[in-house]
Amino acid sequence: MHSPSLSASARHSRFSDFVSFKYRMNYHGVMRRKQKAVFRIIAKSRVNRLFSLAGEVASADLRLADLYVGRALKVAQKFNIQLTSAQKRLYCKHCHSFMLPSVSARIRLQHGKVVYFCKRCRHMMRIPYIKPRTEN
Ligand SMILES: [Zn+2]
Repeated sequence: MHSPSLSASARHSRFSDFVSFKYRMNYHGVMRRKQKAVFRIIAKSRVNRLFSLAGEVASADLRLADLYVGRALKVAQKFNIQLTSAQKRLYCKHCHSFMLPSVSARIRLQHGKVVYFCKRCRHMMRIPYIKPRTEN
């Protein structure tokens, strides 16, 4: 015997323990999935709110905007949330700082691409755009 202190009643309830454990696991699995779905909805709204807040405070306090962006990215990464294309252009992919045009970023059009230049880390982000057709 590995456990001599095990009483007869405890030995008797082994199977029921196993069953309850199994059900507990199932129950937990369902709960986790439901919880995760709820958390993702909350996290998505939080990411949107943080990005809009960053945009609001950026002109007054750029460091606070950086903080908001960092927090938003952390939440998005944890809950696997896709950022919108507008949100992706708001921050530098390299140093994760908020890109405020003319203050912390330079934006130019070059060879059919929008070039976002981060003034902090000198990283360039190029996003192609569709050129408007000239009517002849
Ligand atoms: Zn940067």
